[in-house]
Amino acid sequence: MPKKKNKKKKDSTKKGKSSDLRKKTRAKKKSQTKRRKFSPHLLKGMKDILPAEQRYWEFVLKKSEELVKSYGFQKISTPILEEKALFDRSVGEDTEIVEKQMFTFKDKGGEEVCLRPETTASIARAYIEHGMINLPQPVKLYYYGPQFRYEKPQSGRLRQFHQFGLEVIGDDDPVIDAQVILISYNLLKELGIKPSLQINSLGCQKCRKKYLRALLNYFRPKKRFLCSDCQKRLLKNPLRILDCKNPNCQEVSDEAPQIVDYLCDECREHFIKVLEYLDKLEIPYNLNPKIVRGLDYYSRTIFEIWPEDEEVRSQNALAGGGRYDNLVSLLGGRPAPACGVAFGLERIINKMKKDNLFPPEKKRFDVFLAQIGIAARKECLKIFENLRREKIKVAEAFSKDGLRQQLEIANKLGVRITLILGQKELVEGTIILRDMENGTQEEINIKNVVAAVKRKLKSRVKKRKLL
Ligand code: AMP
Repeated sequence: MPKKKNKKKKDSTKKGKSSDLRKKTRAKKKSQTKRRKFSPHLLKGMKDILPAEQRYWEFVLKKSEELVKSYGFQKISTPILEEKALFDRSVGEDTEIVEKQMFTFKDKGGEEVCLRPETTASIARAYIEHGMINLPQPVKLYYYGPQFRYEKPQSGRLRQFHQFGLEVIGDDDPVIDAQVILISYNLLKELGIKPSLQINSLGCQKCRKKYLRALLNYFRPKKRFLCSDCQKRLLKNPLRILDCKNPNCQEVSDEAPQIVDYLCDECREHFIKVLEYLDKLEIPYNLNPKIVRGLDYYSRTIFEIWPEDEEVRSQNALAGGGRYDNLVSLLGGRPAPACGVAFGLERIINKMKKDNLFPPEKKRFDVFLAQIGIAARKECLKIFENLRREKIKVAEAFSKDGLRQQLEIANKLGVRITLILGQKELVEGTIILRDMENGTQEEINIKNVVAAVKRKLKSRVKKRKLL
């Protein structure tokens, strides 16, 4: 018997080995075919910004930065990677962003981190960590950068998108809210977009408690008419039912109690003052009780800016913001009331494209440097550096040999001057300067090339001005 047993064991190890081998070969084959089939692709919800689109980004950022600097804002940059707990605490564990949309992972040290889904919480963290409360208040900051939310990709909704934002920390005066809104309004107008301001107040924790109770009493008997998400929201975050996009939920919430009727005296007065400032500034607004914003840290004034002339506008919001008076203290800092706004740059740029709003196109190059032969090419490398150092916008095609090919490139670029260096000119210490607008050309001393180009460019500008 034992012998038989042994044999069985031997057989089974043999079988085991051969099946292992088979498994390994299969796995190897699979990985080989996988490697062969692999074709790199963009992750869902991500977007490459190609050179042709960059001028929109440069234009929007330049305009935005110029504008906010003129209102006394300073730039702050915070890391893309943050502690996950920062957003659990600030944005709120029951919010959609934290519950469903965060790119979270453990780093090699075992710490739970995430790609930031927004930047306000990071700035509040930085405000506390760097003792900004000791600076003259309010501290006015602006930022720009990518944000990450694992959302269902659709038009205007990406998983990596970019925000430009403002934060004013350390003051609760309603004039701050009005100013943040004014800047947001002006920023969009300067980009050629007609803004439509939607505004509401969330009150403070005291008045919101009363309101939430009223909201629950209203929605509970109508639970069966709500979508499955809103049925869950009823337990966790009933405010969000108000901005659900489902038509049934919208219909139910049309008759829901409105928070403005529940504001305490201080919050009502604060809100009225914000609106008075807006009236004075002649900024039209729509009191919209359905604007609730999806983040827990908001209090009192909240707003969104929609494109004035589009249909499903709450989904195309170009900017969103409001007050967050308790965020800094919630994160462990000394109380510092604050107000801010974030603009979605992809949406702004899409809107500009839709409305045929083109950023001004700047000429990329004024001069083309052509060369014939190795020795001339070497000399041209040096000439290129000399021109570039003098801030002359110069293009080249050093890897090309034929003059015709190079002149075609120069033509395509629309340069004003082409410099041509061949063997003959090199020996004679000269270079050809061709005026591309009238086709004339002259031979100049190679040592004077920078000065000659500058002179020529200047004279062209002067002539244009005279015309
Ligand atoms: P929020 O941080 O949610 O208040 O959003 C502020 C602005 O960022 C919105 O008004 C949008 O313009 C933009 N935004 C928010 N989420 C996305 C997204 N997933 N894709 C593109 N833009 C977004």
